[in-house]
Amino acid sequence: MSFRATVLTLYPEMFPGHLGHSLAGRAIERGDVSIETLQIRDFASDKHRSVDDTPSGGGAGMVLKADVLAAAIDHASAESDRRPRLLMSPRGRPLTQSRVRELAEGPGVTIVCGRFEGVDQRVIDARGLEEVSIGDYILSGGEPAALTLLDAVIRLLPGVMGSAESGGEESFENGLLEYPHYTRPAEWEGRTIPEILTSGNHAAIRKWRHEQSLALTRERRPDLLAGHPDAD
Ligand code: SAH
Repeated sequence: MSFRATVLTLYPEMFPGHLGHSLAGRAIERGDVSIETLQIRDFASDKHRSVDDTPSGGGAGMVLKADVLAAAIDHASAESDRRPRLLMSPRGRPLTQSRVRELAEGPGVTIVCGRFEGVDQRVIDARGLEEVSIGDYILSGGEPAALTLLDAVIRLLPGVMGSAESGGEESFENGLLEYPHYTRPAEWEGRTIPEILTSGNHAAIRKWRHEQSLALTRERRPDLLAGHPDAD
């Protein structure tokens, strides 16, 4: 079963972007993933093909029109379509690894990329769009956010990552930040590798890594530790 993404955007040429390379690029080539784009402007009905208008109530910038966007959404995602309809938005729920994993287990996604000041609230409500943020900062458009979300999802699809094991121990997968990595040479610029990692004692290595994870998380992201079983 392949994962199908349909992206509604004013800049379809931004896709597949970096997803055309490396792991995701090979998954697309194999047909395990498809990324289709839909040009929102194709659904404008006036002779100027306008997609935006001034904000009701005044203020700077422009707003994506509800009628145009709804026509594009209805074309991309029929009522029987089980794929979640996402809207990239700084007001959305921040994207987490667990939401990424849920999305990767589903049939695909329909993603609306905002532009300008954002989109008319009525289309968000009427089409049940799930607002998703990739962080507390403002991008100029939803496209890089959509590419980021798809990158995170695609690498979790079966057969995409080389080793099935890789991924299971990563940052966030167990609610903690990952432990530090080292590789040869054994000494570099006078710095050595922690001795335990070359001891061959796998149980001790596992314990050391877990302790490192906990210490890093406590120092950098204490918010992640709240409610974590290993917190104290
Ligand atoms: N006026 C809006 C920001 C609009 S930015 C506000 O203050 O909330 C233009 C578009 O970029 C948004 O519609 C959204 O699709 C996208 N975007 C910007 N920042 C984002 C973020 N952190 N996460 C996801 N999408 C984002």
